[in-house]
Parts: sequence; structure tokens; C-alpha cells
Amino acid sequence: MKPMGPLPAEFAEQSGMLTIAGTRAEDWATATPAFVYDVGIIAARVERFRAAFPGIDLHYAIKANPLPALLERVAPMVDGLDVASGGELETALAVMSARSISFAGPGKRDAELIGAIRAGATLNVESEGEAERALRLGEELGVTPRLAVRVNPDVELRGSGMKMGGRPSPFGVDAVRVAALVRRIVDAGADWRGFHIYAGSQALDAGAIIETQAATLALAARLGDEAGLLPPFVNLGGGFGVPYFSGDVPLDVERVGVALAAAVADCDLTAAGTRYGIELGRWLVAEAGVYLTRIVDRKESQGETFLVTDGGLNHQLAASGNFGTVVRRNYPLALVHEMGGAAAETVSVVGPLCTPLDRLGDRIGLPRAEAGDLIAVFLAGAYGASASPTAFLGHPPATEIVAG
Ligand SMILES: *Cc1c(COP(=O)(O)O)cnc(C)c1O
Repeated sequence: MKPMGPLPAEFAEQSGMLTIAGTRAEDWATATPAFVYDVGIIAARVERFRAAFPGIDLHYAIKANPLPALLERVAPMVDGLDVASGGELETALAVMSARSISFAGPGKRDAELIGAIRAGATLNVESEGEAERALRLGEELGVTPRLAVRVNPDVELRGSGMKMGGRPSPFGVDAVRVAALVRRIVDAGADWRGFHIYAGSQALDAGAIIETQAATLALAARLGDEAGLLPPFVNLGGGFGVPYFSGDVPLDVERVGVALAAAVADCDLTAAGTRYGIELGRWLVAEAGVYLTRIVDRKESQGETFLVTDGGLNHQLAASGNFGTVVRRNYPLALVHEMGGAAAETVSVVGPLCTPLDRLGDRIGLPRAEAGDLIAVFLAGAYGASASPTAFLGHPPATEIVAG
């Protein structure tokens, strides 16, 4: 038997039938597969952030979960939305004022730049070339573009699942060239919004985040100094992780908050009036989502028991281990009507796709399950429905339900 990751706190103590946002999972699962997102859990994460990081803006990076019905609920809880494509910009503009939207990401097409400039969203420019195009397009439109400079930092987030700093990068402008670009943007008459410094993702080590944030603040101060200008806003990045796998320990965000408050108090930019923000995706939404899939077949093969479900990596690629993980490990799964039940057998939970990659649970311990029963895959609120190859093998998309 192989271990599974820990259940999110909101589900860990449940027994009997799983409930999500106070309703029995079986009642949510009239059509399977289904993602159910409990907005109450997201609200609890936001509250925890507010308590731990007073005075720091909270942005939601919508690529973690861009479902419009979810965004509608999350937008009023946060100070800004971060988008990474023209499509996401449109989605965000439906629920948030452009002034509170920033658009990062390499390779922005002219049409995307125009959309952001017209709307009045902030473009986090990823290169000098992109900045020049934004300046030219702003001039042609007769609109002053709002431009922040994304910095390719000379620091990286230690222990993060996905490093995005400290090396050659498609993201951001190398720190040594940032001051010159800021001067250029300001001289061209654009509205310079500050810096965007993002060093990595999925970090559970508070010490690593504390170090990175301190280095990020120091870098922002140094770059402002070099440019001879005060950044109105510094987006300090995010990278807060969630425990997906056995042995993962939740991030101590309160410890990060205490350290950041001290670093902010010490930073010269603070007294001069710079505001700070943190952009979070998965930490806000991952634990709020449950993917419900029904067992279609139960079969034995050469001593192994397979529970074949009606959904798999076509909807929840990350749980199959094929989205940015090197070694496949099990997400937390449960048999929906026997939460807390003792493991009676070792089974593999596999989806309906014709590929051996389609495995949601590899030799896990579950109570005895039969065809018709529901399986819950937890941590499905981020990088699930929108980050999975839904067209692969032609099954219908999953239902997505915003609950609570
Ligand atoms: C993907 C991304 C995020 C969100 O990452 P999470 O790990 O979901 O918090 C935030 N900022 C930028 C720039 C990103 O590319």
C-alpha cells in the first residue's frame, strides 16, 4: 500500500458520508464527474491571510481556477486579480475594476496589449521589446498605459516546486537592466506602476519564503534607487504551497506574516509610501475543491484490484502526477460514503482513458468499494478543470459547481 497526501483540515475529521459546504457529496454528484468548490473554505483562507498580513494587498492569480462563477465570489474578497492572457483578462474584467487587474506573462500579442491598455489594466512587462510595443500601442490609442516591470530576480525561492528566478528566464527583465527600462517607461510618459517580482511556486517552507520575501524587498529598494524613482507598488510574488502528498506539512503563514511585517517596516520604500501585494493561486483555492467521480467497474488483474472511474486525467491531470511533478505520488482520495473508514483493501483508482498515465490513486488503502460508489479526489480546486486535457479521448467535460 502506498501513502496518500493529507486531507484538507475541513474534511479530515469527517466520518460517514462526505459533506461539502454542508451538503452530502452524493447530492452534488447527480452528474459525474463533478468538481465542487466550497466558497466557505476560500473565504477562510482569505481571512487567515488578512489576519497574518495586515496592510499587504491580496491578489488572486486566476489561472489557478478561472471559473467565472467562482471568480464572481472570490473577486469581492481580494484586492486585485492577476491574469496571464487576453482570455483571462476578459474573464477578470467581468468581475473586477481594471484598476485592480494586472496582466503578466510572456508573449503578449498586440491585441492583448491593446485590450489591457484600453481597459486600464496594469501590464507587467516581461521584456524591453514588450514595453516598447505597449508604449507605441498606447500612443496610437491615445491612452496612457499603466506599466509595471516584471523583474527576473537574482534570487530564487528555495524548496519551491517551480522555480522562476535566479536563472535565464522567459519571465521578467534581468535585474541589471530594470532601472534603465523604468527610466525609459517614465520618460515616454507612461504610468509606471512599480515592480512585479515572482520567484517560485508551491513552497511549504516558511523559512524559504521569508528569505525570498526579504531578498525581494531589498531588490525592489535597490532597483528603485538605481532608477531614482519610487515604485508605487511592489508585487512580492507568492508561492504559498499546499500539502498535496504524504509527509507534506502545511505552510506556517503566520510565521511568514510576522517576518514580512518586520522586513516591510525596515524597508526604505515603506516610509516613502510604496504599497505591497502578494499574489496567490493555489493556496486560496486548491483545498476548496473536490473532484467527485463514480466507479464504473471493479476488476482484478494479476492480483491487483482496479477501481475504474468515469473521470480521470482528462479533468484532473495533476492528481495523475502528470502536471509538473517528477515523481508520481498520491493525492488524498476517499470513498465518499465511508469517510474515516478503515482501509479494507489495496486498490488502484484509474480513469477511463486509454493510457496507463490515467491513474488517480496508485495502490492506496480504501474501504471496500463497488461499482456505483463515488470516489473523492481532494485538492482539486486549483489547476484542475482548466489545467487538464479535456479534449483528450473525447469524454465530456466535468460539471463544475460553486457551493456555499
Ligand atoms: C502561476 C502564477 C501564480 C500562481 O501560482 P500558485 O502556485 O497557484 O500560487 C502567481 N503569479 C504568477 C506570476 C504565476 O505565474
